[in-house]
Amino acid sequence: MTETIIGIDLGTTNSEVAFVENGSVRMIPVGDAVIMPSMVGLADDGALLVGRSAHNQYVLHPERSIRSIKRRMGEEGKVALGEKQYTPQEISALILRRLKQAAEDYLGKPLSKAVITVPAYFSDAQRQATRDAGQLADLEVVRIINEPTAAALAYEVEHPEAKNILVYDLGGGTFDVSVVRLSKEVTEVLAGHGNNHLGGEDFDAKLVAHLLEHLREQGIDPATNAVVMARLTRAAERAKIDLSDAPFALIEEEHLLSKDGHPVHLSLEIDRLDYEEMIKPYIDETLEAVHTAMEGAGLTIPEIDEILLVGGATRTPLIQRRLEELFGKQPRNEIDPDLCVAGGAAIQGAVIAGDKVSGVLVDVTPYTFGTSAVGDFNGEPYPFCYVHLIRKNSPVPVTKSEAFYTLQDNQETIHVRVYQGEDPDALNNTEIGSYRIEGLSKVPAGNTIVTTFSLDVNGILKVTSKEKRTGLEKRITIENATARFEQEEMNAARERIDALIGGNGSQVTRVEREYVQARALIEKAGRLLESAGTEDREDLVDLIEALRDTLSNPDEAAIHRAMDQLTDLIYYLES
Ligand code: AMP
Repeated sequence: MTETIIGIDLGTTNSEVAFVENGSVRMIPVGDAVIMPSMVGLADDGALLVGRSAHNQYVLHPERSIRSIKRRMGEEGKVALGEKQYTPQEISALILRRLKQAAEDYLGKPLSKAVITVPAYFSDAQRQATRDAGQLADLEVVRIINEPTAAALAYEVEHPEAKNILVYDLGGGTFDVSVVRLSKEVTEVLAGHGNNHLGGEDFDAKLVAHLLEHLREQGIDPATNAVVMARLTRAAERAKIDLSDAPFALIEEEHLLSKDGHPVHLSLEIDRLDYEEMIKPYIDETLEAVHTAMEGAGLTIPEIDEILLVGGATRTPLIQRRLEELFGKQPRNEIDPDLCVAGGAAIQGAVIAGDKVSGVLVDVTPYTFGTSAVGDFNGEPYPFCYVHLIRKNSPVPVTKSEAFYTLQDNQETIHVRVYQGEDPDALNNTEIGSYRIEGLSKVPAGNTIVTTFSLDVNGILKVTSKEKRTGLEKRITIENATARFEQEEMNAARERIDALIGGNGSQVTRVEREYVQARALIEKAGRLLESAGTEDREDLVDLIEALRDTLSNPDEAAIHRAMDQLTDLIYYLES
């Protein structure tokens, strides 16, 4: 058996340690989690706290805690911890020692070698300080590798073809974008850019400012109360994390403080759209840095083969959306963005030790799942715009929610359709289930319905829709959602129809022709939706739905009836 060389991501906010076993990467738990806060502190009795325990006491004693020591690596100065002063290397060594100890406990043997990652922009002095920290922790640092290189290695252990990879890394307090050229022989960082004072904590700060504003409106200003501020910061971070998977987050803090002898409770809901407005300037800044890094590498957008997401904050949907808009391809995030740098370091360690490595194993969904809603389609309103909730290659289990709104006043029913597929036109995807949620409140249009998709490792998809104001709920479970839903006849018919639309259609059956006409009718009716009055709009939606229902179960007579009804209404509306 070869020697185990552990891989360590010594991060600004969090650190992780991994190793390779039987060819695949394993993360090592430190206590009960694989993510350890990069924090050091002193307890009331002077005991040393590292990781989670230091993080926990930070809320109570920020003055006895050290965070973000990575920012100081390579500097001459010292930092105070209790009565004494320590160099940044010494503090980092305490973090490394904790990781080494966890790895030894987990593997049941002593360990002496590690690969440690550093940002690509780290100077020689900063790299040397990292080596020194390793030595102080009794670890021989067999190699220092760049974080983006480690991420690329985690994704592309086997890389027979040369590739240009953009690594977008947004952690708690730092942002780095790097362009990495990965080829069989060499891996090099072609260019990088970033801001080492930008990260998820800035997003938290925006939410905290929002909370403070809310409290000030009630005549309360806790800005100088460190304990309350620490509680607000934690609550803001939790809400931020919730908003990555759901359209709303509720911040609730019981007895936050006292005012005039009475306890003050905080309860405030945050809408993801408002939150996205708050953080937009930060995202814009990161995208400017992406352009700068690409210019530095002399590459254009189409020349980038992969976009890899690294760092916990890249779970923010707005970031993924903006990158996808910019590059026209889905950024990859199937490897946990918190763990992929440590994973890459472990792979590098195994390669140095002479082990065979097959990569990081993750369970992902092979298909995209979503629903349909009225939206803008090629500049026109269309009732079957596809809204994906769970993207292909998302690690499972996964749960995602989105908000939808009723279109009409007093709308009491919503028909929710569940699709598997990628096409922006939901009708081109495979419908795998549907249900109606009935008895909605009689309120003006814009009533919020939150739909949630939950996919587990066994391919069971649970879909729930809930009226936000009342909690009225309807759900379905689709077994085997990740099986391929063939609908062979339908697909074959569609192919022939596509050929027909392309001008090559001598042999279509009558039903197929009607199918094309029906689709065109549905699109046309969809375009009329916006200009129609409330009642007509209701009728249009019903008739579109009715026709759509007949299409999924082709029955000539039913299609005819449904087409006739819709044609009549369109005719009436246009005349
Ligand atoms: P890292 O330094 O890579 O560990 O990233 C830590 C940052 O990621 C912190 O600011 C976390 O609050 C943030 N983060 C973790 N999970 C999520 C999530 N699901 N959505 C948004 N930010 C997250």
